[in-house]
Amino acid sequence: MKRDTTVSQARELDEQDTLKKLRAEFYLQPDVIYMDGNSLGLLSKRAEQSLLSLLDSWKKHGIDGWMKGEQPWFYFSDRLSEMCAPLVGADKKEVMITGSTTSNLHQLVASFYHPKGARTKILADELNFPSDIYAISSQLSLHGYDPKEHMVLVKSNDGNTLNEADIIEAMKEDVALIVLPSVLYRSGQILNIKELTEAAHERNILIGFDLCHSIGSVPHELSDWDVDFAFWCNYKHLNGGPGAVGGLYVNQKHFGQKPGLAGWFGSDKEKQFDLSIQMTPASNAGAYQIGTPNILSAAPLYGSLEIFAEAGIDAIREKSLKLTDYMTLLIEEELSDYQFAIASPMEHERRGGHIYLVHEEAARICKALKEHQVIPDFRSPNGIRLAPVALYNSFLDVWKTVQILKKIMKEESYKKYENKREVIA
Ligand SMILES: *Cc1c(COP(=O)(O)O)cnc(C)c1O
Repeated sequence: MKRDTTVSQARELDEQDTLKKLRAEFYLQPDVIYMDGNSLGLLSKRAEQSLLSLLDSWKKHGIDGWMKGEQPWFYFSDRLSEMCAPLVGADKKEVMITGSTTSNLHQLVASFYHPKGARTKILADELNFPSDIYAISSQLSLHGYDPKEHMVLVKSNDGNTLNEADIIEAMKEDVALIVLPSVLYRSGQILNIKELTEAAHERNILIGFDLCHSIGSVPHELSDWDVDFAFWCNYKHLNGGPGAVGGLYVNQKHFGQKPGLAGWFGSDKEKQFDLSIQMTPASNAGAYQIGTPNILSAAPLYGSLEIFAEAGIDAIREKSLKLTDYMTLLIEEELSDYQFAIASPMEHERRGGHIYLVHEEAARICKALKEHQVIPDFRSPNGIRLAPVALYNSFLDVWKTVQILKKIMKEESYKKYENKREVIA
């Protein structure tokens, strides 16, 4: 990419953008630059439509909506799973849209953590999202193990990234299960899933990944990489709406095992309404569902996943990398006087869909950005996440964001705020 910082370069990059027409599918507020699609993706018109259409089926059909209407609710989760499967590189049978990230993690640990003899530990990392650590920790407690001793957290050398070699080194004989993120939520580092999965399997350890920050932004090949399980949320890059129903993947080699947390929606669909007190679990990833699906919290995903199918995840990834390359270039060229450090990896194969800027004054710089109608994401203690999203952000958005940041730093206008996070940040 040319090291050209002019606005005409931004416009030229927008001209060449093959996905640019998709921006019109989304509700963008006039004059607001949204750089937070990795925390909560924006509403698209199609997602709105699919929600309205499911509301309408409730209006018209009442209880019969389970089998009637354009999208019978009884099969809706399967339909969404089928649409989501290409984004994780799995067979549709291996994917289920259900639960939430954290509840799916509980389900998967309950299903795949089988401590035996000296193999009792769960390996994770100290940079993982706290909810994942809390869930793993409570699962260990349920098994009667002290998490302080049985949860092994791989350390980061720089506070932002992890070394695959350190993770592999920690795959000792006492480890029963590994849970890692695909993309780290702060620095945006991509872990090498294939390499880690191979290393885990060579040591007879099961391994699963949290795809929250990669799904919809980075392609996956879960089946080819032979990952045992994965889980994710659908409200970040997938634009499914606040609290959207989450997703999980279970490698088909594990089908037929009893789910750790059982409920009637995990039944074989043909048998579910026999209402037998003897459960017959589904023979696919559907077995990991628990109760009645949250149809209205899954509904927007239908419209949203159609957009992903049209755009194609490879084209999305290509544009995403161009956007973050461009943002990096502008930050280096325009903000060199202001003590920002880019903590995201620069190599394409190690960088996810956002840029993580570290600065001592990050909390109040974020407040100043919001006042200037740029929506970033502050991450404690000192990070600013900026996510230019391929489906709805433009190169001009990126250019303007960096210009506004420069103005805030130059005028020191951030100093009028306290350097403290808000309740939600
Ligand atoms: C967003 C996110 C979560 C959120 O979990 P919920 O159950 O949806 O609240 C969990 N883990 C990671 C890594 C995340 O990025």
